[in-house]
Amino acid sequence: MSLIVAKFGGTSVSDIERIKNAASKIAREVESGHKVVVVVSAMSGVTNKLVEYCSDISPIYDVREYDIVVSSGEQITAGLMAMALQKCGIVARSWLGWQIPIVTDGTHGKARIENIDTDELHNRLNDGEVAVIPGFQGITVQGRVATLGRGGSDTSAVAIAAALKADRCDIYTDVSGVYTADPRIVPAAKKIHKISYEEMLELASLGSKVLQTRSVEMAAKNGVPVQVLSSFDDEVGSARKGTLVTNEVNIMEQELVSGIAHSRDETKITVVGVEDVPGIAARIFEPLAKAAVNVDMIVQNISLDGLTDMTFTVPRNEADLATKTLKENVDLAYQDIVVNDNVSKISVVGIGMKSHAGVANTMFRVLADKSINIQVISTSEIKISVLIEEDYTELAVRSLHVAYGLDA
Ligand code: ADP
Ligand code: ASP
Ligand code: MG
Repeated sequence: MSLIVAKFGGTSVSDIERIKNAASKIAREVESGHKVVVVVSAMSGVTNKLVEYCSDISPIYDVREYDIVVSSGEQITAGLMAMALQKCGIVARSWLGWQIPIVTDGTHGKARIENIDTDELHNRLNDGEVAVIPGFQGITVQGRVATLGRGGSDTSAVAIAAALKADRCDIYTDVSGVYTADPRIVPAAKKIHKISYEEMLELASLGSKVLQTRSVEMAAKNGVPVQVLSSFDDEVGSARKGTLVTNEVNIMEQELVSGIAHSRDETKITVVGVEDVPGIAARIFEPLAKAAVNVDMIVQNISLDGLTDMTFTVPRNEADLATKTLKENVDLAYQDIVVNDNVSKISVVGIGMKSHAGVANTMFRVLADKSINIQVISTSEIKISVLIEEDYTELAVRSLHVAYGLDA
């Protein structure tokens, strides 16, 4: 008998039929003797709609009220899932974030979970009850509802699994596991059967949105085995047919390159004509850091007549804040600020890169052969990322997938 946390994403609960289908999977797990906690997302499209309502009121809104609005989608699915489980003959009860409570810090809109009280959950599980918990939400120490950032239900599920010391966290979604590239872009992508936390963390943070980055961080920190699987396949999680994210990946099983990630969520900003003197990078990037802008890739151009250009990328939804911060910085003299949304970041990820040369060269050669211009490059021990024009995203991902021998 295992204790399993099972999370269903938006498409897996997008209508009543799918909620019933998800409930029947849980019923099968319970009938096999497992204890189960269910975490649910909002029905697909609902959170987007709720976010839109907020920005329609005002582009700059009170994030505490935003959290009240956007957390509501999950509440609906939690109640419906509890009813659907009851219909299958399972004793089930829903628990909102504040009722457990799932305590977060005060960073509304992207709060971090600090503590989860599990006493009552354990009591209920021991009595044979299934707990249904809305993902994405918690409550701050000040007693206000907070949400965990887009895609945050993954993190809710892993955090609950960690707090309950569950045997496994099953993430049911609309693809049957983690693939060597987004299967919607690369039809020949292969399912990865086992992947290390380290590689999954890179893939997630570089744009493979199948798991929220924070959920992988939390799984790694607490050693929670996470399985990604499809809610549309017939199997339940205990059949172990999905992708296992774990630290138990044998070195011999490691591929040189495990996957290709892409992100269209970047904006490139160039500060044109700044003085090429010591301290210029600090003058640009310190105020951005203070404004909590996440700067990613950076490149400084060659100097001409003592002037240079500084180019960097930020998440697309932070670009306005970044340009505003640069323009308000009285210590910074420049000729122009150029903002470009027409970019995407393509990354090659693999632990095998640590000990192999030539991975970067293959990437540069493939892109050159397709006449794709590389605008910015950044590397770490286990990944190489390049920034290219957005229109070439599919071509680049598919060509690299072939070049690294990843096609099925
Ligand atoms: P959910 O609503 O279940 O949370 P998401 O839409 O957040 O689902 O994540 C699942 C999606 O992630 C898939 O439909 C797929 O298009 C995308 N994805 C991106 N990269 C990958 C990858 N490497 N492997 C699997 N899915 C990926
Ligand atoms: N419903 C939230 C979102 O769409 C959280 C989640 O589904 O993970 O971002
Ligand atoms: Mg998701």
